[in-house]
Amino acid sequence: MLDFDQAQTLLANAAGPLQRHEDIGLFDAPGRVLAADLTATVDIPPADNSAMDGYALRVADWRAGGRLPIQQRCYAGDVPEPLKPGHAIRLFTGSLIPDGADTVVMQEDTVEADNQVEITRQPAPNQHIRRRGEDTMTGTPLLPAGTVLQAAHVALLASQGLASVSVAAQLRVGILTTGDELVPPGTPRAPEQIYNSNGPMLAALVRGLGALPVHVLHARDTEADLLAAFTTLLADCDLVLSVGGVSVGERDLVKPALAALGGELSLWKVRMKPGKPVALAQIGGKPVVSLPGNPVSAYAVFAMLVTPLMRRMQGRDEIFPPVSLLPLRTEHPRQDSREEFLRVQRRVADDGSGELVAYGHQGSGVISSMPWATGLARLPADVPVNDRDRVPYYDLRHWLA
Ligand code: AMP
Ligand code: MG
Repeated sequence: MLDFDQAQTLLANAAGPLQRHEDIGLFDAPGRVLAADLTATVDIPPADNSAMDGYALRVADWRAGGRLPIQQRCYAGDVPEPLKPGHAIRLFTGSLIPDGADTVVMQEDTVEADNQVEITRQPAPNQHIRRRGEDTMTGTPLLPAGTVLQAAHVALLASQGLASVSVAAQLRVGILTTGDELVPPGTPRAPEQIYNSNGPMLAALVRGLGALPVHVLHARDTEADLLAAFTTLLADCDLVLSVGGVSVGERDLVKPALAALGGELSLWKVRMKPGKPVALAQIGGKPVVSLPGNPVSAYAVFAMLVTPLMRRMQGRDEIFPPVSLLPLRTEHPRQDSREEFLRVQRRVADDGSGELVAYGHQGSGVISSMPWATGLARLPADVPVNDRDRVPYYDLRHWLA
């Protein structure tokens, strides 16, 4: 038996980042992982400009009740004339600051008439001016490698004039479901059969992380079927995830199939609930992770143990799921000999703070608990957890997106 933390570390180190990169247009960049550190190559803003609709002038030219002739109306995108002494230039948000001007007065503090402007409040120097480079200076770090690009990052890259960016190639993941009892959704089902939910679920989880579920295969519980499927997946993927057939039943043939392929089996039972049987094999330099077949176990093991490995392979900077501590509401003390990952909802308590409520039926086959839950609460092994005890909480809605 392996402790959960040991298993997570072992799996996270089962492969390094992919070395394949590609250039991608900014419009296709969301969700992709930046391949290299980026440095600013232009000052943003590129020139001093106005933060307000108003007037540019010299502070020294201001007199209470005085009026300044308006030399020019300079719109954003225009080139301003140098400011003549004793004049003002009409500006708008984003207009460049004329040479010679040392302040901007917002139009709310002015009265304009007959091409002259009265400034009704004494201006201070340097008001309402956005300075060249105050956002980003040439040569300063922009974004580190490993950043997952979202709208905010795309805006930053676009502001630098970049139309494309170097990102890590998408991780190619092969998925293998196993079991003689399973039929695909959308096909007729005999009474003794169940629908295969793990295949679509794992494909969705893989896609949620921005990786490609390139094949979703199904194998019957025979070593020959498993061997053939693993061989296909290993030829075309960076990582293979299998599910089911990894326990100690007579038809649990994943382990012998992996061994037959020359796999180095490096872990077996993880002391976590749900999800005990988990296997990791290395075949031809590629990791194969075998997940328990129960859908809730597969989901929890994917969320807690597979995501660090996938994120490492994707080159992401954030590998392990962030944890917060929140009080668990429970009617009776909870205790188990394995670490337990409860499906919980994070709710807002009466005083506005967060608290966790567990789904009533925590069975590892209860699929309906999964969409209900916002995340997992981690309960320590062999220690009673009482009502309002603070426990680690993993926000899966964000972590798996
Ligand atoms: P196993 O680990 O193969 O013994 O499977 C454990 C439990 O999970 C059994 O009840 C299986 O029927 C169920 N199971 C395995 N694979 C799937 C799947 N792809 N979809 C839904 N249930 C599954
Ligand atoms: Mg099975």
